[in-house]
Amino acid sequence: MNVQQSHGQPLLSVRDLRLSYAADRGDVRAVDGVSFDLEAGQTLAIVGESGSGKTSLALALLRLLPRNTSQFEGQITLNGMDCMALSDGDFRDRVRWRQISMVFQGATESLNPIYKVGHQVREVLTARGDQSRQAADERTRELLDMVRLPTETFNRYPHELSGGMKQRIAVASALALNPTLILLDEPTSALDVGVQAQIMNLFKRLKSNLGVASIFISHDIALASDLADYIAVMYAGRLVEIGPSEDILGAPSHPYTQKLLAAIPRLRSDTPLEFIPGAPPDLSDPPTGCRFHPRCEFAMDRCRVDGPREFVTASGQSLAACWLLDERTS
Ligand code: SF4
Repeated sequence: MNVQQSHGQPLLSVRDLRLSYAADRGDVRAVDGVSFDLEAGQTLAIVGESGSGKTSLALALLRLLPRNTSQFEGQITLNGMDCMALSDGDFRDRVRWRQISMVFQGATESLNPIYKVGHQVREVLTARGDQSRQAADERTRELLDMVRLPTETFNRYPHELSGGMKQRIAVASALALNPTLILLDEPTSALDVGVQAQIMNLFKRLKSNLGVASIFISHDIALASDLADYIAVMYAGRLVEIGPSEDILGAPSHPYTQKLLAAIPRLRSDTPLEFIPGAPPDLSDPPTGCRFHPRCEFAMDRCRVDGPREFVTASGQSLAACWLLDERTS
C-alpha cells in the first residue's frame, strides 16, 4: 500500500510494519500494519493521543525493541537499504545514530549529572563515530553553535542549564553523526510555552540549513503542523489518515482527525472547544472493525464489523481509512 506518493526513491519507506509486546493480558499490538514514505529533507508529523503507538513506531524504526517484543515484522527501507535484512550488530553499526537518530521524550532528564555536557556530546562522537578526542571536541563546539548554545556550555554540568538548553544538548547529540533522518519524540513536551517556541524555531532552522529529514511525534496536531510537510494521524496502532499538512488541516476527512483539530484552542473564536469522548482502546483487545467506532459519532453497522478499511483518496492528496468516504461517493 503506497500511502504517500513519492517522487523517485523515498529516503524512508515503511511497509506493513508490525510491533507487538507480550503482556499478561495478551499481545499488545502497538504498531499494526503501518505504511508510509518519507522523502529526503521532509518532515512527517505522526500525531495521536497517548497510547496510539507513536513512540513504539519510532522505537521500531531505530530497532530499540523492548525485551518483551513478541512480533517485529514488515519492511523498512532506508536510502534503498533493506534495514530488516540487517543483523542487530550491522543495524547498530551502520544505521542507528549514523543514519537515523532520535531525540527521546524526556531527553532533558537523561543527561548524566556528573559529567560536563560537552563531554556527553563528545562521547557520541568518540564511541559511535570513532573520532579522535581532538576532532570530537572541535565537532562538539560546532554542534553547540548549530543549536545556538554558547561555546562555554561545553564545560557546564546539566544542573547549570535550563530545560531549553538541555533540550538543545539532546538535539546536538542527535545531530552529531550527520544523520539523514532524526526522530523527534514529543521533543518539547517538558518545556514551557515560550521555550517550546524557541525549540520549534531551532528545528525549523535546522531543517532549512541542514536538510535533515525528520519524523516529529506529538499528541499536539497544532504544534506538529508548525513544522510538518506531511501529517500522519495514528489511532490504536494504525494510521487512519495521511497527507500533506495543508490538506489534513484544511479538510480533515477521518472523524478522529476532525476531533483532534476541533480540540485545538483558538484565540478570537467563539466556537466551543470539543473533547474526544471516551479513551483509546486497550491494544491487547482492540475493538473489531474500525478501532475508532466506540468513540465515533458517525459509526455505522459495517464500522463495527468490516475492517480495517483500506486507505482511499480523501481530500486533495490525502488518504483516509474510513467507511464514511464510501458513503459520500456512492
Ligand atoms: Fe467512524 Fe466508521 Fe469512519 Fe470508523 S470507519 S471513523 S467508525 S465512520
